[in-house]
This record gives sequence, structure tokens and C-alpha cells, in this order.
Amino acid sequence: MEKLLSENELTLLFSILEGAHKVLITCHTNPDGDALGSMTAMMSMLRRHGKEVVAVAPDRWPDNLSWLPLVDDIMQYQRNEALVKDATKDADLVLMLDHGRIERMSELGEWVASLDVPRVVIDHHPEPEAGADLLVCQPTLCAAAEVVFRVLDEMGWTADMTHDEAVSIYTGMMTDTGGFTFNSTRPEVYVIISRLLEKGIDKDRIYRNVFYTASVDRYRLLGYLLYVKMELLREYNTSIISFTNEERKHFQLKNGETDGIVNYPLMIDKMRLSVFLREDTEKKGVIRVSLRSVDDFPCNEMSAEFFNGGGHRNASGGRLTCTMDEAIEIVKKAVRKYGKKLQN
Ligand code: 5GP
Ligand code: MN
Repeated sequence: MEKLLSENELTLLFSILEGAHKVLITCHTNPDGDALGSMTAMMSMLRRHGKEVVAVAPDRWPDNLSWLPLVDDIMQYQRNEALVKDATKDADLVLMLDHGRIERMSELGEWVASLDVPRVVIDHHPEPEAGADLLVCQPTLCAAAEVVFRVLDEMGWTADMTHDEAVSIYTGMMTDTGGFTFNSTRPEVYVIISRLLEKGIDKDRIYRNVFYTASVDRYRLLGYLLYVKMELLREYNTSIISFTNEERKHFQLKNGETDGIVNYPLMIDKMRLSVFLREDTEKKGVIRVSLRSVDDFPCNEMSAEFFNGGGHRNASGGRLTCTMDEAIEIVKKAVRKYGKKLQN
């Protein structure tokens, strides 16, 4: 495997780590399996190497990730702002995982920016911000967890990787690739999986823990959204699904159970873009936008241009401050603007 870090970067990483006693690990808002898996693997590794570690997520995560090793050690800024500030005010290093920009942490970002300590980014999102003391960001890699594994490997730390650390890394890689169904054709991915399997992980069980533990209401909701709410713009090989808080009242969903619904319309023949709109459950008047595309359609560009967001070429998101009807109109405008690329 090609090295991610130059000799100089590796030396710099070791010297930054050597100077740090208390490490603050952060991730992006709406933490997913990759954000959490990267954090828990890194938290465990650093602790075993003598560091004090505080891991903080900006807000809560889906219930289907609550089984992840060490996940209960991650603090939630939105819930415990004062506690987090108290626990991290003397941190002497910030390690940003699965995000390369301060603003992807929402309010937690303001706190992190106020800490005058070195920052290291380990990520796979395009366009990380300048300003980190060390930036390891590889958009071609399938998950931040893959970057984390490879960095640890180049540090010589994977030889004694524990079973639970391997579980965390695998979970990150598995969730960011939809169970290795997209963004996962590089041979290195499977070299790493083979290394993780050697640590005794049960990959089938991890898959079931994440994907086969939904409430019945999630699947009733999925049926409703596909049957009643999905609007197909056939001419543009695009689908739009909207979901309001009024509709949410009819379903007893666990946290995070609308995640992944955006993927289903892409299973329909010829579909190139799926857009899922949902009203934010906390912030009134905010519509969350999720986009998924196939092949070379750059839904991150569309997201940056129309939805105040960004992300990966085939998986991006953003948010709008408007009504649902207005949001649907904005999506249609965006789809018309990108019409040629969608009709290909
Ligand atoms: P999701 O649809 O799962 O919420 O987000 C999919 C991907 O889009 C995320 O992994 C992240 O890379 C990106 N993303 C989501 N929301 C935003 C946003 O507000 N800003 C940026 N830059 N990226 C986002
Ligand atoms: Mn990721």
C-alpha cells in the first residue's frame, strides 16, 4: 500500500503527539458510523499509548450505533455543553476525524476554535480548510476510518490493534460504503479488511448490528414514503422524497431511523439522483437535505450551489431555511440547472 504520510509528516505527527497529554477528538454533526468508528478506534489506541483522551460529538448519533465499543465514552456537546467545556478546556491537541472544517461541528466548532492548541485533521472529505498543523485528508479513500487505519499502520501501531479497535475501523468503512456497495472498489480496502478479520472481528455480526436492528415503524415509514411521497422526475432520472414533522408524529422512530432512506430510489432503474428532504426535529424552519447520486454525477457540487452544503461526489447534504414546499421548488430548480448531466 502506498504511504499516506511523508517522512516529515510522520515525524511531525509523532512530535505533536509527544507534546500532548490530553487529546480532544472531534467529529462532524449527525455522527455516522464512520465518524464514531474513527473516534472510538483512535480513542482506544491513544489511551493505550498513555494519552488522556476526551472524545466529543457535536450532537447525538443513531441508536443503531449504540453497541459500538467505547461509544458511551463519547460526550455530546449539544447536551452537555458545560461539562464538555470543563473536560476539554485544558486539552493540548485537537484531533478532527471525519471532517476537515471547523464549521462541520456547528457550535462545538466555536469552542474548538477558541482553544489555542495544535490541530490535526484525519479525513476523507474534499476541501478541508487550511490552518491545521497536520492535514491528512484523502478524498479517494472510502472512509475516515480507512485513513485512520492507514495512519496508525504507518505509525507502527496496528500490530497490536485490539479486537474492539478493529471492530470500530470496520464499522466506519462498512457504513460509509453502504456495506461495500459503493465507493469501495480499490483493492486496498480489502487488504485492510483482511487485516481486521485477522483480529477476530465478526463482520456479519457487525452488519446485522448496524443494518438489521430497525424498529418496525422505520419500515412502515419507508413504505409510506416510497408509496405516497416519492416524486419521480423521470425526465431527469431524479427522485424527491419529503418528510415533515407532522408526518413523523405517526411513527415511533428510534433516533437516526430516517438515515439511509435516501438510498432506496436509486435502486430504481436509470435513477441518477435521489434527494431526501426532512424537517429538522430541533430547529423550526430548517429543512435538512440529503443527496445521493451514482457514477459521475457530482451531488456535492449541487449541494454547495443550492443547499448550503457539500460532501462527497455521490453522497452529500446541506440545509435550507424555508418551508417544505419552497425546499421542493429549490430542488426542482437545481435539477433543471443540472439537467444535462442528469439526463446522460
Ligand atoms: P447525509 O445525507 O448522510 O446527512 O450526508 C451525507 C454526506 O454529505 C456526509 O457524509 C457529509 O460528507 C456531507 N454533508 C452533509 N451535510 C453537510 C453540510 O451541511 N455541509 C457539508 N459540507 N457537507 C455535508
Ligand atoms: Mn466519513
